Amino acid sequence: MCIEDRAVVERLTLAGITLSATLDVPGGGQTVLLNADAALAYIARPEAFSADYFGLSLEDYETWVALDGQAICGATTKTGTRCRNPVSGPIQLSSQQWRERHGGLCATHGGDSAHDAEA
Ligand SMILES: [Zn+2]
Repeated sequence: MCIEDRAVVERLTLAGITLSATLDVPGGGQTVLLNADAALAYIARPEAFSADYFGLSLEDYETWVALDGQAICGATTKTGTRCRNPVSGPIQLSSQQWRERHGGLCATHGGDSAHDAEA
Protein backbone atom coordinates (compact mmCIF):
# COMPACT_ATOMS: atom_id res chain seq x y z
CA MET A 1 0.00 0.00 0.00
CA CYS A 2 1.55 3.27 -1.06
CA ILE A 3 1.71 6.39 1.11
CA GLU A 4 -0.48 8.31 -1.34
CA ASP A 5 -3.26 5.75 -0.95
CA ARG A 6 -3.15 6.05 2.83
CA ALA A 7 -3.27 9.84 2.61
CA VAL A 8 -6.30 9.72 0.31
CA VAL A 9 -8.18 7.21 2.46
CA GLU A 10 -7.45 9.20 5.62
CA ARG A 11 -8.62 12.43 3.94
CA LEU A 12 -11.85 10.73 2.91
CA THR A 13 -12.61 9.38 6.37
CA LEU A 14 -11.62 12.62 8.11
CA ALA A 15 -14.03 14.43 5.77
CA GLY A 16 -16.80 12.22 7.13
CA ILE A 17 -17.10 10.03 4.04
CA THR A 18 -18.20 6.53 4.98
CA LEU A 19 -16.26 3.69 3.40
CA SER A 20 -17.74 0.24 3.02
CA ALA A 21 -17.12 -3.00 1.19
CA THR A 22 -19.39 -5.86 0.29
CA LEU A 23 -17.76 -9.11 1.35
CA ASP A 24 -18.64 -12.42 -0.30
CA VAL A 25 -20.70 -14.60 2.00
CA PRO A 26 -22.89 -17.68 1.42
CA GLY A 27 -25.97 -16.51 -0.42
CA GLY A 28 -24.54 -13.19 -1.60
CA GLY A 29 -22.73 -10.31 0.01
CA GLN A 30 -22.49 -8.61 3.37
CA THR A 31 -21.74 -4.92 3.46
CA VAL A 32 -19.42 -3.79 6.23
CA LEU A 33 -18.25 -0.32 7.20
CA LEU A 34 -14.50 0.29 7.03
CA ASN A 35 -12.32 2.70 8.95
CA ALA A 36 -9.17 3.94 7.22
CA ASP A 37 -6.97 1.04 8.36
CA ALA A 38 -9.61 -1.53 7.40
CA ALA A 39 -10.11 0.09 4.01
CA LEU A 40 -6.39 -0.07 3.32
CA ALA A 41 -6.25 -3.70 4.43
CA TYR A 42 -9.21 -4.52 2.21
CA ILE A 43 -7.68 -2.79 -0.83
CA ALA A 44 -4.41 -4.66 -0.33
CA ARG A 45 -5.91 -8.14 0.09
CA PRO A 46 -9.71 -8.33 -0.12
CA GLU A 47 -9.97 -12.11 0.36
CA ALA A 48 -7.60 -12.14 3.34
CA PHE A 49 -9.46 -9.18 4.87
CA SER A 50 -12.76 -11.03 4.45
CA ALA A 51 -11.37 -14.22 5.98
CA ASP A 52 -10.10 -12.27 8.99
CA TYR A 53 -13.39 -10.43 9.30
CA PHE A 54 -15.29 -13.71 9.56
CA GLY A 55 -12.70 -15.38 11.81
CA LEU A 56 -11.64 -17.99 9.25
CA SER A 57 -8.39 -18.91 7.56
CA LEU A 58 -8.23 -17.86 3.92
CA GLU A 59 -8.71 -21.46 2.79
CA ASP A 60 -11.67 -21.99 5.11
CA TYR A 61 -13.23 -18.68 4.04
CA GLU A 62 -13.06 -19.65 0.37
CA THR A 63 -14.51 -23.10 1.18
CA TRP A 64 -17.30 -21.61 3.33
CA VAL A 65 -18.38 -19.31 0.46
CA ALA A 66 -17.95 -21.99 -2.24
CA LEU A 67 -20.09 -24.46 -0.26
CA ASP A 68 -22.75 -21.78 0.30
CA GLY A 69 -22.23 -22.18 4.03
CA GLN A 70 -23.07 -25.88 4.05
CA ALA A 71 -21.02 -28.17 6.28
CA ILE A 72 -19.60 -31.26 4.55
CA CYS A 73 -18.90 -34.62 6.19
CA GLY A 74 -15.31 -35.18 7.28
CA ALA A 75 -15.42 -38.99 7.27
CA THR A 76 -13.30 -41.12 4.95
CA THR A 77 -15.24 -43.41 2.64
CA LYS A 78 -14.53 -47.13 2.11
CA THR A 79 -12.58 -46.22 -1.03
CA GLY A 80 -10.34 -43.89 0.96
CA THR A 81 -11.67 -40.58 -0.33
CA ARG A 82 -13.26 -37.90 1.78
CA CYS A 83 -17.03 -38.17 2.03
CA ARG A 84 -18.76 -35.32 0.18
CA ASN A 85 -22.19 -35.69 1.81
CA PRO A 86 -23.60 -32.67 3.61
CA VAL A 87 -23.84 -32.71 7.37
CA SER A 88 -27.58 -32.56 8.05
CA GLY A 89 -28.90 -29.15 8.93
CA PRO A 90 -29.32 -25.77 7.32
CA ILE A 91 -27.16 -24.26 4.59
CA GLN A 92 -25.87 -20.69 4.62
CA LEU A 93 -24.50 -21.19 8.12
CA SER A 94 -22.70 -18.29 9.74
CA SER A 95 -18.92 -18.58 9.63
CA GLN A 96 -18.83 -19.63 13.28
CA GLN A 97 -21.60 -22.23 12.90
CA TRP A 98 -19.97 -23.56 9.75
CA ARG A 99 -16.56 -23.85 11.42
CA GLU A 100 -18.14 -25.86 14.26
CA ARG A 101 -20.04 -28.21 11.92
CA HIS A 102 -17.82 -28.58 8.82
CA GLY A 103 -15.95 -31.88 8.95
CA GLY A 104 -18.59 -33.39 11.22
CA LEU A 105 -20.50 -36.49 10.18
CA CYS A 106 -23.27 -36.97 7.63
CA ALA A 107 -26.23 -39.25 8.35
CA THR A 108 -24.49 -42.15 6.57
CA HIS A 109 -21.46 -41.87 8.84
CA GLY A 110 -23.40 -41.56 12.09
CA GLY A 111 -24.28 -37.87 12.09
CA ASP A 112 -27.31 -36.32 13.74
CA SER A 113 -30.09 -37.38 11.43
CA ALA A 114 -29.01 -41.04 11.73
CA HIS A 115 -29.64 -40.83 15.46
CA ASP A 116 -32.91 -38.99 14.86
CA ALA A 117 -34.03 -41.78 12.50
CA GLU A 118 -33.29 -44.40 15.12
CA ALA A 119 -35.15 -42.53 17.84
ZN1 LIG B 1 -20.22 -38.94 5.38
